[in-house]
Amino acid sequence: MPKITDKKVIDHTRSVCPECLKQYDAEIISEHNQAFMVRTCTTHGVKKHLVSKNADDYEYFRECYLMLKKDINMSPSKQKAYNIHVTDKCNLKCPICYSRGQSRQKDITIKDLEEHFQGVTNSRLCLFGGEPTMHEHVEEIIQWIKKNNNIAVLYTNGLKLDDSEFVKKIKNAGIDEVHIQFDGFSENAYETFRGNKNLLHIKQTAIEECARQNLTIVLEVTVNTNNISEINSIFNFALEKPNIKGVVFRTLCLVDLTSKYEQKITTDDIIHTLSRNKKHPVSEEEINLFQKLLYKYCFYFKVPLFGCVLNRYYLLYKDGNTTLNIGDMLNLKKINSYFSDFHQNSQKRSNKWIAAFKTIFHFLNKRNIKVALLILRNFLTEKFNGRHKHIKPVRSFFFLEISGPMDQYNYDQKIIELCPSGVYLEEKLHRSLGLAYYDRRMNIDKLLLSQEYRQKD
Ligand code: SF4
Ligand SMILES: [Zn+2]
Repeated sequence: MPKITDKKVIDHTRSVCPECLKQYDAEIISEHNQAFMVRTCTTHGVKKHLVSKNADDYEYFRECYLMLKKDINMSPSKQKAYNIHVTDKCNLKCPICYSRGQSRQKDITIKDLEEHFQGVTNSRLCLFGGEPTMHEHVEEIIQWIKKNNNIAVLYTNGLKLDDSEFVKKIKNAGIDEVHIQFDGFSENAYETFRGNKNLLHIKQTAIEECARQNLTIVLEVTVNTNNISEINSIFNFALEKPNIKGVVFRTLCLVDLTSKYEQKITTDDIIHTLSRNKKHPVSEEEINLFQKLLYKYCFYFKVPLFGCVLNRYYLLYKDGNTTLNIGDMLNLKKINSYFSDFHQNSQKRSNKWIAAFKTIFHFLNKRNIKVALLILRNFLTEKFNGRHKHIKPVRSFFFLEISGPMDQYNYDQKIIELCPSGVYLEEKLHRSLGLAYYDRRMNIDKLLLSQEYRQKD
């Protein structure tokens, strides 16, 4: 790809002024290979904010993403993930919390679920809050989700999971994944994000308790300047624990926060830091190649795209005490070259079976055949929603996700309209978490939003 050094417009979208939240047309431009969101507020003047430190990749992935979403039916019926805001209650008072001020007056009930999630199956239903474990009937909610053939995912600060009886209860209710908020190993990280510097021990106990019950754990790490130096230790820690199946590094979202937390890092910083991990580096190139392959796979085989363009995904494989990057096992560059770029021309599916056939040869060694079978087994498990009696999910894979949520600085309406998650919020089911959330927070003009989603909301 040619290196972009001059100023150029990458795309047009709508954004907001970060000071007054009024909407404006915006341009995404590249300058010296950095990408910026630029808009002009009639009151506050030109607002220009960094969205990526690598404009080449940003532009490439943006084009692919927009094309894929257009190409592969993005109808709301394809929505396969929902966040459910089950309660406002919380046992922490984090200074960075963006759940505060939610308008839920009462906790969600099974009746609400029956009413709004009727017919939703084979989907990820993620319990959010507040703190979902504060809901008096969280077990029943999990049971209801499982009874309806969905995947039950708990997003928790982990405070209640230091109680083995409680963990046993949610395990028996059928929880599939527990995502535990984990900010690092220093008191500083917890003090800044959670307003309580003594949380590490309780988080570690929560992880041990979940592991004891053989639950699948994912660490959810908020990252800003105060803890970016810790992300490699967190990553190594996660790789060493057999029950931790993934880690999500998410840049701090500044919605509702004052400039005191002004964002200074991007997902590129996180990726760059991970590439310098002494114990287990994952290079920037590998992450990008894997992401490209993921997009190509979705395009060529018409698979609905998982996730958002604001995120990067990478796969690792745990084999006993060793962990291998997917890039150590497969020649990602070569496999990428079998499938030509599609974002300029969408009529390219014809040679996909030849490319797939060539790819198969990369699996033809002892280790990779084992991995291919595991991929197939996991695929089937997903297909049967983990409920097929002969197929059990395997935990050998480890997912790395690097995510850069939107806030008033990088708000991008074109992307948010394609948000791959729905949300149950304010007593109704919205087909787009992004739209529902930002409608409320930023008073976005509803008329400008996508009709398709609007009708369904
Ligand atoms: S744990 Fe979550 S919901 Fe509770 S205060 Fe912190 S960020 Fe907000
Ligand atoms: Zn303004």
